[in-house]
Amino acid sequence: MNVKNKTASAEILSHPPFQGKLFINGEWVNAEDGASLERYSPAHNKLVATYAQAGVADAEKAIAAARQAFDKGPWPRMLGAERAEVLRKVADGILAKKHEIALLETLENGKPLEQSLAEIEGAADLWHYAATLARNLHGDSYNTLGQDTLGVVLRDPIGVVSMITPWNFPFLIASQKLPFALAAGCTAVVKPAEVTSGTTVMLGDILLDAGMPAGVVNILVGRGRVIGEVMVNHQDVDMLSFTGSTEVGKKAVAKSAETLKKVSMELGGKNPQIIFDDCDWDAAVDASVFGIYFNAGQCCNSGSRILVHESIADKFVAEVVERSKQVKVGDPLVPGVQVGAITTDKQLETILSHIEGARKDGANIVLGGSRIDGEGMYIEPTIVTGVTPDMDIAKEEVFGPVLSVLTFKDLDEAIELANSTLFGLSAAVWSQDFSTCITAARRINAGTVWVNTFLEGHAELPFGGYRESGIGRELGRASVEEYTETKTLHMHLGKRTNWYVPKD
Ligand code: NAD
Repeated sequence: MNVKNKTASAEILSHPPFQGKLFINGEWVNAEDGASLERYSPAHNKLVATYAQAGVADAEKAIAAARQAFDKGPWPRMLGAERAEVLRKVADGILAKKHEIALLETLENGKPLEQSLAEIEGAADLWHYAATLARNLHGDSYNTLGQDTLGVVLRDPIGVVSMITPWNFPFLIASQKLPFALAAGCTAVVKPAEVTSGTTVMLGDILLDAGMPAGVVNILVGRGRVIGEVMVNHQDVDMLSFTGSTEVGKKAVAKSAETLKKVSMELGGKNPQIIFDDCDWDAAVDASVFGIYFNAGQCCNSGSRILVHESIADKFVAEVVERSKQVKVGDPLVPGVQVGAITTDKQLETILSHIEGARKDGANIVLGGSRIDGEGMYIEPTIVTGVTPDMDIAKEEVFGPVLSVLTFKDLDEAIELANSTLFGLSAAVWSQDFSTCITAARRINAGTVWVNTFLEGHAELPFGGYRESGIGRELGRASVEEYTETKTLHMHLGKRTNWYVPKD
């Protein structure tokens, strides 16, 4: 099961580590205090990148640059068409460097190289899509308020946006935020997770080449507890766009309230795939396997719960187990590998402790359950059965290749189980009956419900969560509006009737 081919990656790993600086006001600079940070590949334990590490003073500088660029610079005042042209050039610049970016993504994150490449291409598409929206942002008007009134609603860019991103899809998630905020005319300070900063840092040169004015985008590498906190509650920041864990997200919302900002939060999930007894069997088995092992389960949208009809449960689970055994786990630089390394040692510990917790609660580990011995941080594809809704493994986000299986008697019970966690990011319904699919989809509390498919996405379709999975939506036609304020122009035409009427 565990694919290892050291010769294929030895050549790549012999390259010198990537070196990144801070991108502030259109320039590459070192940290004011000279601090630096190193990243070792989770798959090979080799030094793959070193960075200037921003401190509070650097964060203040980046915010000041974004503020200046918003208040005085050309970007918010340019034509939508002009902003669109720059965004298109960024998209093309990403595609021109896609192999380079994908390689660094794999080295830092541990995901298979082919999947990194698909992620970078998908991200470029988001920049192209945002370019189309830059020309379409518009307000509203009311010509129905009487002869002497005209109402016009303008859409203004909200201002400076702090963007904080996680380590699981670093380049894609930055691209779910940045081009849309830029399309609206905002400026930004972007902080990737410290363990996977490289691809976002690479964006700096692409932005420069595309003609992005200085200060519009600033990129900081550094610790969440240090610079993240500055970005979250700084007076000169107008909006926080955060993707990460629900736990940190809640703290960030509380902190941001000190200076009362608009927040957009993309947080965790415990996403169910509901398998009815009339499902397309082969597709549902495949999606169950893909849904949990893609990105080693380190996916906010991971299909970490299978809810399967009791009449087919034993046979279905047996097939999912058999297919899981065929999944190729190993060195992400080796072609054909489907599941790479766990990205951080902390995450590795978290996943193992969830498996241990499930064991203690009386669930059955019917496949995997352990770390794979040898170089790099890998966990076996793991399937847990006998799970009941009260167990932690049924409720908490594991963020690893660990599938929990629960069973149901009828549609009502399936929906009750689907809606029984505090999350509400996504779900899937598998049935060949149209009514079953649509009835279930309408009753599930989640921002995305896939019907007879899983984990597909398009720039046109909004993405985000109910409940503790988040606040607001990314992507889709309305995504640019998230980064705006409305301003009402209430206009009186002709002579106004005075309030004060003098007595004679
Ligand atoms: P995390 O919450 O630990 O970190 C996310 C980001 O927040 C990082 O950049 C981190 O440096 C920063 N941060 C940490 N402490 C901070 C603080 N006190 N103030 C400000 N910023 C701080 O998340 P992670 O471990 O990097 O990513 C995994 C989590 O992200 C999972 O829960 C996953 O579900 C979630 N996620 C959600 C989506 C979505 O769109 N809903 C997408 C991807 C990941």
